[in-house]
Amino acid sequence: SRDFRPADSVIDVGYGVKVGGTELAIMAGPCSIENEEHIFDSARAVKAAGANILRGGAFKPRTSPYTFRGLGEEGLRYLHAAGKAHGLPVITELMSVRDIDAVCEYADIIQIGARNMQNFILLDEVGRVKKPVMLKRGLSGQIEEWLLAAEYIMAQGNPNVILCERGIRTFETAYRNTFDVNAIPLVRELSHLPIIADPSHGTGKASLVTPVAMAAIAAGADGLMIEVHNNPDHALSDGAQSLTYDRFAGMMRSVGAIAAAV
Ligand code: PEP
Ligand code: MN
Repeated sequence: SRDFRPADSVIDVGYGVKVGGTELAIMAGPCSIENEEHIFDSARAVKAAGANILRGGAFKPRTSPYTFRGLGEEGLRYLHAAGKAHGLPVITELMSVRDIDAVCEYADIIQIGARNMQNFILLDEVGRVKKPVMLKRGLSGQIEEWLLAAEYIMAQGNPNVILCERGIRTFETAYRNTFDVNAIPLVRELSHLPIIADPSHGTGKASLVTPVAMAAIAAGADGLMIEVHNNPDHALSDGAQSLTYDRFAGMMRSVGAIAAAV
């Protein structure tokens, strides 16, 4: 907490990119790594628009077991190669202790997904490695529970923790999740850890992503995680919330204007 460590933590994630501090961290890319060519093209497009971190899922937590669950280790290899080719650190989700060595080998940042926010054994294990970890807020995670989950990682000796607000489940069904903008200034008050906003999962709807991204940056977020796809209608996961390359470039301009003003 701030009482223990007053100064903001700044996390070095490789390729000269820092999360927290003065520069915004913009993590962008497809929900899932779909194939080698697709992730390379995504890396090129998001970098051209100003992203500095590439995202892509290889192990996907899907509601239905009959939908695409990711390419697994093959996907990790494509993601790593695409990041390397374009000079971008990469982030991908680790769902199980089973895959920790593979994810550590290929990723620069380990993502702990919303559904695993309180998977304490997984948190212990990522606490034992030194890689930066981005801990997403659980679907019904209270702020205190989320910050204590981050403590699990740090208590094992890994101080490189990034938080990510990705929306919570409420009574509202008009959108997928309710992005809790309140969490951003509150977490900044309570914690020294950097906080990223994910308006893609936070809304579930592409048309809402840019305005909510702008709100999150105005509220003090250290960066964004944005799902981007060249052809959202054909995405293997989360197409409804994915921005096209053009739309993502437009979002970057809008967010840049807010960042310059705050
Ligand atoms: C994701 O980033 O694709 C993802 C599954 O996120 P969350 O854990 O926030 O649902
Ligand atoms: Mn997704």
